[in-house]
Amino acid sequence: MDALEHHSTGERGLFFMKLIAFVENGQDRLGVNTERGVFDVAAALASQPADGVPRRVHEAIEGGSEAVRALASYVDRVLSGPAGDSFLRNEESLVFAPCVPNPGKIVCVGLNYRKHAEETNSPIPEYPVLFSKFSNSLAGHRQDVPIPKETQKMDYEVELVIVIGRKAKHVSREKALDYVFGYCAANDVSARDLQTRTHQWLLGKSCDGFCPIGPYLVTADEVGDPNNLELKCTVNGEVRQHSNTSDMIFRCDELVSYISRHMTLMPGDIILTGTPEGVILGYPKEKQVWLKHGDTMTVEVEKLGALTNRLVNEA
Ligand code: MG
Repeated sequence: MDALEHHSTGERGLFFMKLIAFVENGQDRLGVNTERGVFDVAAALASQPADGVPRRVHEAIEGGSEAVRALASYVDRVLSGPAGDSFLRNEESLVFAPCVPNPGKIVCVGLNYRKHAEETNSPIPEYPVLFSKFSNSLAGHRQDVPIPKETQKMDYEVELVIVIGRKAKHVSREKALDYVFGYCAANDVSARDLQTRTHQWLLGKSCDGFCPIGPYLVTADEVGDPNNLELKCTVNGEVRQHSNTSDMIFRCDELVSYISRHMTLMPGDIILTGTPEGVILGYPKEKQVWLKHGDTMTVEVEKLGALTNRLVNEA
């Protein structure tokens, strides 16, 4: 992992390994966030071809540390050359895709923070509470999230996401984090009336656009300990949730190990690890003002960036 360490230490001060997926001509492309702008990998490769350099986010994930190292040295080399700046894009001008564009599985953990379980009058779970979202729920940074006509109770949930990097089946807790490629932030958008209508939560969790992830996919080495990250959610600039992943009931290593004992985790699978207290569902009934058209939600996880999405009434 020389290249990663090299960049993490900022020896050359060029960039950190934050990957971006952005949309260009209907396709998602790989970008690398640098201090000078977002490096457009496909554009660079078209004019300066190189072997073993991933072109898509999923190639980077599946290629693991080899691919990340190849990408890091390629970006470094091109940026040091005379044409380097021509492959840099302004982040503000990009259309973000979900930072993991095609996860095979979206596994979610419910009630994984003690105070959140308490605020929703739920017992502290003995085992991780697992549910899922489908791919229709994925959304990118700055993408509008539609409010379904069927709900009156829209809510937000800031969460840390684990992105799996290697096939994992029956992995021990001690080895679990070795199977992680990286992390990102997510908003587990929830329609509470649909979520609680029946015993299964799926309906209120997997509407279109209910799983914004991003803006960056940050490699595990950059993040360090995933169970000591501050996380925050604001609505129209007002802080609603503010906690730390150290408050999780089932920690990241435990979650990967537990899930892998029941299903094979594959590269690119994502795990939403649960939300802390502060959701509207946890407010006293008389103070529950549900999200509405035009509200802007920003969820932020330390080291992973801020993910912003606006709610709009479904067309
Ligand atoms: Mg959640």
